[in-house]
Amino acid sequence: MTPTTSDLHPTLRPMYETVLRRNPGESEFHQAAHEVFESLSPVVAKRPEYVQASIIERICEPERQIIFRVPWVDDAGKVQINRGFRVEFNSALGPYKGGLRFHPSVLLGTVKFLGFEQIFKNALTGLPIGGGKGGSDFDPKGRSDGEVMRFCQSFMTELYRHLGEYTDVPAGDIGVGGREIGYLFGQYKRITNRYEAGVLTGKGLSWGGSQVRTEATGYGLVYFVDEMLRAQQTSFEGKKVVISGSGNVAIYAAEKVAQLAGTVVAMSDSGGYVVDENGMDLEVMKDLKEIRRGRISEYAEGREARYLEGGTIWDVPCDIALPCATQNELDETHAATLVKNGVRIVAEGANMPTTQAGTRALREAGVQFAPGKAANAGGVATSALEMQQNASRDSWSFETTDARLRDIMQGIYGSCMMTAEEYGMPGDVIAGANIAGFTQVADAMLSQGVI
Ligand code: NDP
Repeated sequence: MTPTTSDLHPTLRPMYETVLRRNPGESEFHQAAHEVFESLSPVVAKRPEYVQASIIERICEPERQIIFRVPWVDDAGKVQINRGFRVEFNSALGPYKGGLRFHPSVLLGTVKFLGFEQIFKNALTGLPIGGGKGGSDFDPKGRSDGEVMRFCQSFMTELYRHLGEYTDVPAGDIGVGGREIGYLFGQYKRITNRYEAGVLTGKGLSWGGSQVRTEATGYGLVYFVDEMLRAQQTSFEGKKVVISGSGNVAIYAAEKVAQLAGTVVAMSDSGGYVVDENGMDLEVMKDLKEIRRGRISEYAEGREARYLEGGTIWDVPCDIALPCATQNELDETHAATLVKNGVRIVAEGANMPTTQAGTRALREAGVQFAPGKAANAGGVATSALEMQQNASRDSWSFETTDARLRDIMQGIYGSCMMTAEEYGMPGDVIAGANIAGFTQVADAMLSQGVI
């Protein structure tokens, strides 16, 4: 549902109307923009120079949008056609940086919402990276390795001309993991005849990848929640945690929760969810999802765990809920169930997994809420650390990189809380994240003139 203008500051209303008019039908992008606009009232009052320089309107308009055809040959010899996207949204702070998503649901509006979020998330990390995102409506599920390779090669054959370690640096997202990054990097290297390691992140450890990048988004999310818990003089110990998804973010969030003595009682995929009151066995889950690429239903076979096809994982009672699958997977009905079952914290591992009505319901019920652009920034932050290591031809130990990640997540939490306080909304992590990210980008844009 497209949000309305009526709840926005009068200065912001015409700007939001322009977003709606210029980007028809892109409801996810409208939602992402509206979420940021909702936090900007105190900013337009306090910083009129942003309004004078049309910073908000400029931030909403991507610097460049690339759409291209991706032809490839399947195992049966049939030519398949997909559509590729890269939206280079904002380079005020550094080269465009953001993942690639391969999923049949991907449209231009999906990539734009993700790219828009990415601008502020990347700013929050304090590292020199701009915002971008890309992907394709290609579905890797059920495809052979050979088909995935041929698709990736074709995708990169067009995209490579827009990339570079100082220009645009993609990484993974839904449907793009180590296998896909490998094929994409191989093709980039072949076409350009350059071993430019810093052009893609999420690489394998033996060829320019960083320790902790695989774990970073999930670990970072849990470090962020740990800060929220510490602020209430408590910890993960003894807490029941429900995590949606069973991909990269979900698995490593679960691993870190278990390390911090919490119990992950349920996880899901797009087919259904499993409940294991003893705590999920992550070795089994990793083998199932990372190696065998199977369905989560198989987890329950021969164990004391229940598999529920369809339905919603948010029916499972918990203290902490971590949505880590996809956008708009937690709405106001799910929020009401979570509240009824006593949830205390909801923190977003995925990008925009909670609808605006869902977020409102949780906040009104006094649930602490951490938005994805702050809580899941650990992935991109570690990607930036991978770029640092590539630039200096160095590689850091797991412990060093993990300590940097933890510091960065603590820094993001601190900066959200401080900014929320400064702008008169103490304790509001959403407002703090949006304003802290926005002002950093806006100040850089002011300094760089009208471009
Ligand atoms: P993966 O592809 O590794 O895993 C995605 C998981 O979510 C799978 O379990 C998948 O189930 C499930 N899922 C995907 N789409 C849907 C859907 N439409 N309905 C229900 N379940 C779905 O992706 P990631 O773990 O990398 O990404 C998850 C989220 O985290 C995304 O929102 C992504 O943008 C965000 N994110 C990822 C980062 C990263 O570093 N990877 C960084 C920051 C944010 P199934 O296999 O059945 O499709």
